[in-house]
Amino acid sequence: MKKVVKFGGSSLASAEQFQKVGNIIKSDKERRYVVPSAPGKRHGKDTKVTDMLYACYALAEEEKKFDKELAEIKARYDEIITGLGLKLDLSEEFAKINENFRAKAGADYAASRGEYLNGIVMANYLGFEFIDAATAIFFDENGDFDADKTNKILRKRLEGSECAVVPGFYGAYADGKVKTFSRGGSDVTGSIVAKAVQADVYENWTDVSGFLVADPRIIKAPEVIDTITYRELRELSYMGATVLHEDAIFPVRQEGIPINIRNTNAPEDRGTWIVGSTCQKSKFTITGIAGKKGFCAVNIEKDMMNSEVGFGRKVLQAFEDYGISFEHVPSGIDTMTVFVHQDEFMDKEQKVVAGIHRLANPDSIDIEADLALLAVVGRGMRSTRGTAGRIFSALAHANVNVKMIDQGSSELNIIIGVSNDDFESAVKAIYDIFVISQL
Ligand code: ASP
Repeated sequence: MKKVVKFGGSSLASAEQFQKVGNIIKSDKERRYVVPSAPGKRHGKDTKVTDMLYACYALAEEEKKFDKELAEIKARYDEIITGLGLKLDLSEEFAKINENFRAKAGADYAASRGEYLNGIVMANYLGFEFIDAATAIFFDENGDFDADKTNKILRKRLEGSECAVVPGFYGAYADGKVKTFSRGGSDVTGSIVAKAVQADVYENWTDVSGFLVADPRIIKAPEVIDTITYRELRELSYMGATVLHEDAIFPVRQEGIPINIRNTNAPEDRGTWIVGSTCQKSKFTITGIAGKKGFCAVNIEKDMMNSEVGFGRKVLQAFEDYGISFEHVPSGIDTMTVFVHQDEFMDKEQKVVAGIHRLANPDSIDIEADLALLAVVGRGMRSTRGTAGRIFSALAHANVNVKMIDQGSSELNIIIGVSNDDFESAVKAIYDIFVISQL
């Protein structure tokens, strides 16, 4: 068995956190490949090392002094090194970074040093081999991740290594110039490494005990999801639930490698398993609820719309012409509604409306703003009758007016539109009926 373990910034923010991580790795011989993030926040008001690096490099680029800022970053690492009692001196590394900042090596290079240095500390602490991600993870000339080249080279590199640390978040172009993934990208590196070594599991260690059924800012101490499929996860992440970087799913999904989200501060918790498919029933009929505010509904009416071939295409063309993507398009006999993001739509609203008039010649167009969309997601819904009925009676009891309903044909999710003001009550009502009442 081989396990790839990725640790997030809060798991590596201090020497004390590093020790927890060390214990987790040492307690299981199969945890052979480690992907660290940069040190994160030690407390609420702290700054992540990645953000310190971006800020420091911005000074270098403006040709301002940045020695104090760089020294503060070094101090973060020295605190960890001293706390762990390691004999490691990063002075030479920092001299090189200083030089490269002066030579304007780029913001990606700067940000990547957070993971690079943390990888060196981690490898030293564990006695594992250090592999610089710039020599094993590649981007093509367009800046896209080069999966084939990476997999070939990284696989070979790791085959020859019993235990290794590969820093997260970055790789390099063919010429060696460093490039990062988008923020939170160490999750992606973990997934790439798991694929390269054909791991049995990709453990992603963070500071929560897994995915929660609902947003903890709305529901107090929500239940943890035991097992979730990749598809369910995608539906929930798209609707605003966050824990894992979106792109982290693809490399392992292709290989059927499960992801296990775990909590560094509560390693005994089982966490959440993310899998391709499962016969395991979820504990509740629904797997999770997520949602977002800030949508607009553009309502288009035209008599006999149902028999006019091409009407929908013409309407959507008007949105496409102004670069606006739509979220949902529920339709009736003589009406069609297009849900869009309010902030994207606002500036172009009148142009799009004129476009619809010109292209589709409707009877009327009406715009409703300040709407929220809620996704109730669950593989269990397919085999359970009455789920939709329960959702809507719960919403009615909570006095929430439902403005739109859209059930995907996969029966994996039901999307509900309500006004922004009703959003929290709607989430609570659905959580109560499917979770609280089942406990
Ligand atoms: N350190 C990077 C960030 O803050 C990447 C990561 O933590 O995954 O975005």
